[in-house]
Amino acid sequence: MNADVIIIGGGIAGCSAAFHLAESGVSTLLLDRGEISGEASGVNMGGLGASGWGNSPGLQEYLTMGSLNIFKKLQLELGYDIEFRQSGSFTAIHTENQYSYAQSMVIESQKNAFNLQLLSPYEAKSLEPELNLDLFGYIYSPTRGQADPYKTTQAFSKAALHAGLKVQTTTEVIGITSSDSVWHVETNKGNNAAQSVVIAAGAWSKNIGEMVGVNIPVKPVVGQMWSTEPLPPRVFGTIASIESSFHWMEKPYVDDKSPPELTHFGDERVTRHLYGRQRRSGEIIFGGDRRNSGFSKSIDAAGIEVNKTHASEVLPLLSGLPVSSTWSGLMPFSDDGKPVIGRIPKHDNLFVVSGLGSSGFGRGPAAGMLIADLVCRGESHPVLLESDPARFAS
Ligand SMILES: Cc1cc2nc3c(=O)[nH]c(=O)nc-3n(C[C@H](O)[C@H](O)[C@H](O)COP(=O)(O)OP(=O)(O)OC[C@H]3O[C@@H](n4cnc5c(N)ncnc54)[C@H](O)[C@@H]3O)c2cc1C
Repeated sequence: MNADVIIIGGGIAGCSAAFHLAESGVSTLLLDRGEISGEASGVNMGGLGASGWGNSPGLQEYLTMGSLNIFKKLQLELGYDIEFRQSGSFTAIHTENQYSYAQSMVIESQKNAFNLQLLSPYEAKSLEPELNLDLFGYIYSPTRGQADPYKTTQAFSKAALHAGLKVQTTTEVIGITSSDSVWHVETNKGNNAAQSVVIAAGAWSKNIGEMVGVNIPVKPVVGQMWSTEPLPPRVFGTIASIESSFHWMEKPYVDDKSPPELTHFGDERVTRHLYGRQRRSGEIIFGGDRRNSGFSKSIDAAGIEVNKTHASEVLPLLSGLPVSSTWSGLMPFSDDGKPVIGRIPKHDNLFVVSGLGSSGFGRGPAAGMLIADLVCRGESHPVLLESDPARFAS
């Protein structure tokens, strides 16, 4: 056998799983058809959406707050400079209706011991000087943070290599079979065998599942971003808008075949979504659109314009700055919008960690840790009940 465990996919989920397995002394081989951090995990906005453990932590809190602790460990204990900062986050409120929604959401979350505050524009601008004073207000989340996505995913793989991980990049998995309790993973560069396999192939997880006749209902959703030229430090926290969550609260699905919480129905926009920050290297970066366009990563120029207008409503300094570059990536959205993390039914020692959607960078580290824990102990952490792939089994 080549290893105890083969992981398919070198994004944040696969690299974190590899790190936690290798750190526990499990012999692990990671395969990626491209490079480590070559897909969504390397090109995302870098926002970490943790708002506290709350009174009764469930899967979301384990993934967000658990990941936050792992980001801290990578940078503060293991010494990797991943540009992590617990910078806080500001979510802009544009209308009176959005304000009422934000108010009840913040009151409810405070009752449940989450760390959200409703700030007037004046209070918010005292903390984040470029915010627009003429909006209705901002939700402030001091626990949220940011990190460089490419450096972070690379840091997981380096830490895992240090702990004994073997990695093969430019190695595409093209088939999987099992015999006598051994998994045989066929690639363009030859075959590998292991006792266990973890599918961590992001937006391509469904394709890998099909190789063993398993339905992993994860669809690719394209997200795109743009950036300014580098500027001196002007934006310190991460920036968002409540417009999309207000819309999705009122209309949860665009249709019954698409994953929830998209910005488009076909080519038609249904809402505007917004996230952004300033990188350490100075570029202010923003994005938000979520389109169901298959595996196409082509940029929708009109969408970039809409997003820039939206961002400029929150940070007026952006209106005078040209777009200097654009890029895109594919997010793994499950059919019900929830993560897919756990043991695949009816197949011994076959696992999946996927469906992390639009917040897989901030949740991937803990998702990888939880799947590594399941592979090592053979027993699921109770919070994984919510992400159990068995919910899709027929
Ligand atoms: C524009 C954009 C902005 C985003 N912003 C944020 C944000 O601010 N915060 C946040 O938390 N999340 C954000 N996300 C979401 C986040 O990036 C993803 O949820 C996360 O990176 C998914 O990680 P993953 O490891 O599951 O998948 P990926 O990073 O896609 O990794 C999967 C890997 O599997 C490999 N693979 C696929 N098929 C095969 C095969 N047959 N053989 C071998 N290897 C294979 C691929 O090459 C790839 O490297 C954003 C995403 C995008 C696109």
